[in-house]
Amino acid sequence: MTKQTGIAGRFGPRYGSSLRKKWKEIMERRYDEHVCPFCRTTGSVRRVASGIWYCRKCETKWAGYAYTPS
Ligand SMILES: [Zn+2]
Repeated sequence: MTKQTGIAGRFGPRYGSSLRKKWKEIMERRYDEHVCPFCRTTGSVRRVASGIWYCRKCETKWAGYAYTPS
């Protein structure tokens, strides 16, 4: 009875925290200030959809990777 929760308690959080850490990295990378490949402006690039990026400076919209602009 307690053995089952013990195994889950031992491996669950460890596995979960490493997953959370990786997830957190990906999520933080999403909001990194990307450099526009067209006008080289930093901080004007926004992800408008999965793989779709938009630069507010030169108003260019292009297709990139899901989490990085190029
Ligand atoms: Zn630009």
